[in-house]
Amino acid sequence: MRFEGNFTQQEPIPAEGIAAATEVMTHGRLHRYNLANGELGEAALLEQEFATFTGAKYALAVTSGGYALATALRAVGVEPGMPVLTNAFTLAPVPGSVAAVGARPVFVETTEALVIDLDDLAEKAATSDARVLMLSHMRGHQPDMAALMRIAEEHDLTVIEDCAHTMGGRSGNVVSGQHGTVACYSTQTYKHLNSGEGGFLTTNDAEIAARATLLSGSYMLYPRHGAGPELEVFEPLRDATPNVSGRMDNLRAAILRPQLKVLPDRVARWAALHDAMEAGLRHAAAIHLIDRDPGLDRVGSSFQFVMPEKRGAWIADFVARCGARGVELKWFGAERAQGFTSNHRNWAYAGRASLPRTDAVLAGLLDMRLPLTFSVEDCAVIAQILREEAMS
Ligand SMILES: *Cc1c(COP(=O)(O)O)cnc(C)c1O
Repeated sequence: MRFEGNFTQQEPIPAEGIAAATEVMTHGRLHRYNLANGELGEAALLEQEFATFTGAKYALAVTSGGYALATALRAVGVEPGMPVLTNAFTLAPVPGSVAAVGARPVFVETTEALVIDLDDLAEKAATSDARVLMLSHMRGHQPDMAALMRIAEEHDLTVIEDCAHTMGGRSGNVVSGQHGTVACYSTQTYKHLNSGEGGFLTTNDAEIAARATLLSGSYMLYPRHGAGPELEVFEPLRDATPNVSGRMDNLRAAILRPQLKVLPDRVARWAALHDAMEAGLRHAAAIHLIDRDPGLDRVGSSFQFVMPEKRGAWIADFVARCGARGVELKWFGAERAQGFTSNHRNWAYAGRASLPRTDAVLAGLLDMRLPLTFSVEDCAVIAQILREEAMS
């Protein structure tokens, strides 16, 4: 048996989004500040709707998730040379955003539940001079956020949440992104909303929102935003904040707005796919599932499992055998970065760190996408192939 689905094929843009995009192209006002008399524009409307969706006071739409992360760092006052605490297990745009502002990532260890190790976080918060934690909710897993926020408070850490994989999710009934000071989201094709490229920054802090808006390249047209702070907040900042253009445009916003409306439905469909994968692999030889935190509404847009008893060469062969049967796995223990998958040893610009717990977890960690073009039946086929190959 071979699986014939495509792991990178997303669903089409909803018809409503295509119609809205056509309208933007027809009138030609693609730039977010290019508005007809009395018009709010798609980008500003999207910001309002995203603020409502997340419950954040302020929302800013930008060009990418990575741009939102770097802007957040800058808006909370990170300067070149400063250390920034961050997860050792994440994807390249996270340490990349720290490097983008000239700061220095300080990697924190990873637990077997694939979340940041809170003991290592407390220790590194105490022993480094970092005042900011860039917390990546990698693959939708989240630590005990109440415990994490206690550590942050104790060490006076500002928390930026990377919610690229948790958009639409919650932890302990709190919308993902509402624990920390700033949250960043991506609307890149492989995430939970698809505009090709794009992202959001949300916060409840008026000054951070104003700084991020000015940074994003608002010229002096910030009154044209949809979910920004009062205009007087901008006054002391407007000449002190550089313009680092990274604005969302009306065309992308037009295709995102109808998708945001159906995000809760997408999250429910991802849960069904993820449940089907778990059910299919629960008793598989050599495959261990990741512990689920019952307080977490995780978005199941990807699936992870570990094979701790297997050695690297065996896993490399397993990945190849599954690939030959149409099941595309990513292995976080590989020596070289491949495609979207890399690990801290591949980020040489950030300096070498000793992270034995993370290395032990990543050595056996396998990952795959669950696009919504898959059905529950597809997941059963994928699980069967994995079970069979795991036994050989
Ligand atoms: C995709 C992603 C981002 C940012 O994505 P962009 O490609 O810059 O939009 C940030 N963090 C994680 C974990 C991601 O997967």
